[in-house]
Formats: sequence, structure tokens, C-alpha cells
Amino acid sequence: MLQYNVRDILADPRIVITVEETLDLPSISYGGEEIAITQAPVVSGKIRNLDGTMPEYKGSAELVMRMPCSRCMEDVAVPLLLEFSQRFLPAESVGDDWDEDAEVFTEYRLDLQDFVMNEIILGVPMKVVCREDCKGLCPKCGRNLNEGPCNCDFHEEDPRWDALKSLLQGKNKD
Ligand SMILES: [Zn+2]
Ligand SMILES: [Zn+2]
Repeated sequence: MLQYNVRDILADPRIVITVEETLDLPSISYGGEEIAITQAPVVSGKIRNLDGTMPEYKGSAELVMRMPCSRCMEDVAVPLLLEFSQRFLPAESVGDDWDEDAEVFTEYRLDLQDFVMNEIILGVPMKVVCREDCKGLCPKCGRNLNEGPCNCDFHEEDPRWDALKSLLQGKNKD
């Protein structure tokens, strides 16, 4: 569950905690949608006590998620490699001058779970394409144009012509 007791490393800065865990995370919710995780996140790295008071976690998470191509809607495997460097501050030490980039922890319990989950969600790309030259779907018949052209006549579908047509039709009615 990515929770670590840092009492020892706060007492002795020579001690290093090794992080190596595979998260049981079949999917994540993102923007109201479930995104399937097809290769479970492997979280690794080290927790060190650099300056005697603030443990630092340096590490990474590697996973593969499945998202639809934003043009043709076919599923795409999206590999993510996230790298972290995060300091954690004991709640007792939070003062007026605390560095807001540091996460706060209590009772020697450093919880990387929430931190890593957040980072994974931040790492989800806004859009993916199955390939750079994906032709997408025909807006008229919905055919996947990567599989070949359809028989739709796009000239009629140009919205500028539509606007002109309705303008002319409106005139003719008067
Ligand atoms: Zn595509
Ligand atoms: Zn078509």
C-alpha cells in the first residue's frame, strides 16, 4: 500500500528505505471516465533523509493504460513513465516558512499511495492518437477511414456551403 514508517530514517540519516511495489490498480477514474490499466504500475525508488528533517522520495512509476484514439476511437496502449522527486515534511514542523512543494505527513507514516495516485492522474495525456497519420472517422457515415475510404461526398458537407444554401433558400421562400 506504499506506506512507510520513517521513524528510523529520521533518527539515522544513513538509513535508506527502498520502494519497490506493484500496485493493484485495474483502472483509474479520469474526467468521469474509467481508464483501464493494462500493465499494473510498478513503483520504485528510495526514501532518504537528506537534511535531517525532511525525507525525500526519489523514484518512478511505470505502467501502461488503454485509451481510445481521439480520432478513430480504436484502443491505444499508452505507456507512462513518471519520475518523482518529492520531499515530505512532518506535520509538527509545518510553520510559516514551510515549503509548499513539500507534502505533509503525520506520525512517521509516509503515505506514497495518494501521492503516486495523484501523479498518475496528472500524467494521463489529454489526447492520444493511434498513429500520427490516423485518418479518423468519417463524420458522415462513421467509417474508420484507416480501413479505406467511404463513399460520402464531402463537398456537400462543407458547412460554408450549408450556410450559403440556407441563405439562398431563405431568399427564395420570400
Ligand atoms: Zn486512430
Ligand atoms: Zn463516410
